[in-house]
Amino acid sequence: MADLILFWHRRDLRTEDSVGLYNARLRTPKVVGVFCFDPNILGRDDIAPVRVYYLRECLADLQQQYQRVGSELLIVWADPTEAIPRLAQALNAASVYWHWDVEPYSQQRDKRVIQALDQRGIAHQQFWDQLLHAPAEIVTQTGQPYTVFTPFWKNWSQQVKAKPYPPLQDCMGLTADERQIAQEAGAIPLPTLEQLGFSWSGTLDYPIGTAGAKRLLAEFGRSAIYAYQEQRNFPAVAGTSRLSAALKLGVIGIRTVWQFTQDCLQNFPGNESVITWQQELAWREFYQHGMYHFPHLETHSYRSKFDAFPWENNEKYFQAWCAGETGYPIVDAAMRQLNQTGWMHNRCRMIVASFLTKDLLIDWRWGERYFMQKLIDGDLSANNGGWQWSASVGMDPRPLRIFNPNTQAAKFDPDAEYIYTWIPELRPVEVAQVLSNQITSLERRSLGYPEPIVDHAKQQHLFKRKYQALGGNAER
Ligand SMILES: Cc1cc2nc3c(=O)[nH]c(=O)nc-3n(C[C@H](O)[C@H](O)[C@H](O)COP(=O)(O)OP(=O)(O)OC[C@H]3O[C@@H](n4cnc5c(N)ncnc54)[C@H](O)[C@@H]3O)c2cc1C
Repeated sequence: MADLILFWHRRDLRTEDSVGLYNARLRTPKVVGVFCFDPNILGRDDIAPVRVYYLRECLADLQQQYQRVGSELLIVWADPTEAIPRLAQALNAASVYWHWDVEPYSQQRDKRVIQALDQRGIAHQQFWDQLLHAPAEIVTQTGQPYTVFTPFWKNWSQQVKAKPYPPLQDCMGLTADERQIAQEAGAIPLPTLEQLGFSWSGTLDYPIGTAGAKRLLAEFGRSAIYAYQEQRNFPAVAGTSRLSAALKLGVIGIRTVWQFTQDCLQNFPGNESVITWQQELAWREFYQHGMYHFPHLETHSYRSKFDAFPWENNEKYFQAWCAGETGYPIVDAAMRQLNQTGWMHNRCRMIVASFLTKDLLIDWRWGERYFMQKLIDGDLSANNGGWQWSASVGMDPRPLRIFNPNTQAAKFDPDAEYIYTWIPELRPVEVAQVLSNQITSLERRSLGYPEPIVDHAKQQHLFKRKYQALGGNAER
């Protein structure tokens, strides 16, 4: 009988270009997957229903991927520190394989799973998979983690990157007896979204599974990637890849994505747009390395003096921001896009994050949590990094940016197309008026659109004063 390797999937929902699955298959044809719905994660207050929906659909896709190669994906729903060792023991697995993660919770959980497996005498092996370079590979000359992006990028981009791994194939699944044993040890059919305690009634404008993610990449490669540098800042234009949710859950392998950029560069050597897009992939790794090296980032500012920032945390303002009712069209359009679709354009993420922290003087952690409650691609490292950057409290050399929402709208949504899409009640108002936000009180009342809740000019002075009082450099 072939040895059984149980492969524990977490944020790697695919069977191709997977370091761990490739290594497992080298050792045995009997590679069986398992995914664990973790009540510690599902019970948190920052879980977006749309993200769970996407996760569940991608798991259904992963089950099919396993079936196609002759094996299967088991599902359990219990604390993984008990469920994974119990299942491995019941199935007499020769080993349990999985991929490392950077998040503090995952690292603690994995330590406990390792302990439990060791206690039962079950072997285990881990690999880095979700990053092109593991955190220990990219350090300064003195062996320290980078805290500034540009030198990180210089080092990271010069390192040789692995090629995509061959897909899993020619596997064996469980016998009927083993399947019975797995059920007794907790394996269940894939629960519905409702059974998991969530509901999502929106329409998901996002392709499911690995084939869907590869389709997104191919579409992006047809033309948008070559115009990325100019187009990526315009929220009304489909100028970015929209791969973030697929990358977050590892529905597509990062080496596959990198190889795609290399192929694009072969077609157009030195193309700056392609290189700019590669930089975005590096930002993703920069923030993940940051979370790995500095786990306190999860709850604290990187620049610790700003933990004492006197945020005003006005609950009414916060509710207006969440609902897209601040009276600033570009901010409201973006928040409505987020609320209705579970996604928001990067330029708009920066605008609304600046507005929440610097105009409304609300703690960046409130915004960070709200994003996690809504985003399909919600990811601790990228979201936390984006929020700390926007609040000027994070790992970044330039100290202070305050976005003027009207200037941003004029520059990046010059025809107000994005604003009109998400705030249709403003359609009767002329573009110039919408962009400068010079809409009269009478018009606002008749259209049902709110007055600006704060005055940007005043608020930014207030923010600067508080920032300087804590030793922040308010010069821009
Ligand atoms: C306040 C704030 C919160 C954010 N929260 C998240 C989040 O929860 N999850 C998330 O994936 N991204 C987050 N981002 C980063 C960025 O906005 C999204 O990755 C991007 O908008 C996703 O669209 P795309 O896939 O079309 O990106 P593209 O422009 O096509 O970029 C390609 C990929 O690079 C990565 N990437 C791009 N920009 C960044 C960045 N600034 N930081 C880290 N990775 C990046 C993503 O994986 C993205 O899919 C946040 C940014 C800000 C300012």
